[in-house]
Amino acid sequence: MIKKFLKRVFRRSEKTKKIGNAQVIPFALHSVPREQISYGAKRVTDGLQAAGFKAFVVGGAVRDLLLSKKPKDFDVATDATPEEIKQVFRRSRIIGRRFRLVHVMFGEELVEVATFRCMIETAQTDENGRLLRDNEFGDQEQDAARRDFTANALFYDPTTQEIYDYHRGYADIRDGILRIIGDPLVRYREDPVRMLRAVRLSAKLGIQLDPATAAPIAQLKSLLDNVPEARMLDEVLKMLLSGHSVECIQQLRKMELHHGLLPLLDVIMEQPTGEKFIMLALKNTDERLSQDKSVSPAFLFAALLWHEVLSVWNGLVAQGERPVSAMFTAMDEVLARQKKKLAIPHRHDAVMKEIWLLQQRFEQRSGQRPYRLLEQPRFRAAFDFLLLRCASNEVDNELGLWWDEFQDTSETRRQEMLQPEGAGVKKRRRKPRKKPDATQTVQVAE
Ligand code: ATP
Ligand code: MG
Repeated sequence: MIKKFLKRVFRRSEKTKKIGNAQVIPFALHSVPREQISYGAKRVTDGLQAAGFKAFVVGGAVRDLLLSKKPKDFDVATDATPEEIKQVFRRSRIIGRRFRLVHVMFGEELVEVATFRCMIETAQTDENGRLLRDNEFGDQEQDAARRDFTANALFYDPTTQEIYDYHRGYADIRDGILRIIGDPLVRYREDPVRMLRAVRLSAKLGIQLDPATAAPIAQLKSLLDNVPEARMLDEVLKMLLSGHSVECIQQLRKMELHHGLLPLLDVIMEQPTGEKFIMLALKNTDERLSQDKSVSPAFLFAALLWHEVLSVWNGLVAQGERPVSAMFTAMDEVLARQKKKLAIPHRHDAVMKEIWLLQQRFEQRSGQRPYRLLEQPRFRAAFDFLLLRCASNEVDNELGLWWDEFQDTSETRRQEMLQPEGAGVKKRRRKPRKKPDATQTVQVAE
């Protein structure tokens, strides 16, 4: 009797049910327990629900949990307005002018809470169909429809542990498919950045783009020209820092999306000499991220532009300029040239220059110079950079091994390792003008 009852309950709880147009997936099917939701996001959904509102964890977090990946952050969507949300949480503030969101703070954690929005029929678009505003409040179903991919449009209720699914996103995730919601042509025209998101998310999640989602990208890629540069840089940075940058770049190449996409990416792809170095830098970044280590955008930018700097520098040195001053000129020239096209924020300049400048000083292995170099605050980043140069055969591996040992060894051994004064410093000679060669390195005095 009890067995029969349990069987009935269990069977029922494994079934999805329909609420409005949503398929509701029970815990027994999806197996994501509330414990996997961050403390802050749970407090937010609890607080809002206790105040009589609907509240769900949404977007990337639900998708990542279903794929057994660690979410980057937990966003919450609700039917409460920003003012109502603010009334529920003491430590919160409304941000954003175009579409107002609320940031709720719980200790270190910041939870972003958004009111359900809809895509308005009369939304303004530019001549290519790009949405200029989409800032109307809506209901839960409309909020699902304005999202980009079915896998990104799931709502998780931490109280009932149920998932609300309006676009068969649960089935798509289970089948390993990334599928755009609605007509792909219309959705890419509304926001061309979705094409890049398609590439990034499928690479990052290791799932396939649905053929109908992938098909129109080739014909629509020129729409990316109209996207404001800051937003493009944002998305490209997300790719480079996704932990799967190598796959992202390979995928972009396959879809021929990299050409003219953003000068930064052109820089990456079109440098024959630098390609190996850059791919190693990206691989290294991916590995660091997979080990939860920090990566700095400045380091990555420094790597992306290194072979340009090197090429200008070698040209100047070949013309007889002193190596150190040639380096200053080369750095300024490359940064100024790139600034016009790349929109790399100025705040990274100082760190990039430090990393580049320290490269010259690794050559000097006599007297006090190596000790002074070790004390540089940027030594670690510069050393990591040096290792990439070694791995890409730009400089001799021996140099990297020498510094690797010198850093951690005893004073006696260090004294043995030091080279005689004058070694490693090439006498400066005026050279006849010759064609710059980016692969050539010149040893430099401090
Ligand atoms: P990530 O893991 O990179 O954070 P994400 O999917 O969470 O991936 P976010 O930029 O944090 O990406 O966006 C959160 C959610 O907002 C997405 O899951 C999606 O539902 C929606 N969204 C983001 N960008 C767009 C867009 N361009 N068009 C439609 N919906 C979007
Ligand atoms: Mg996210």
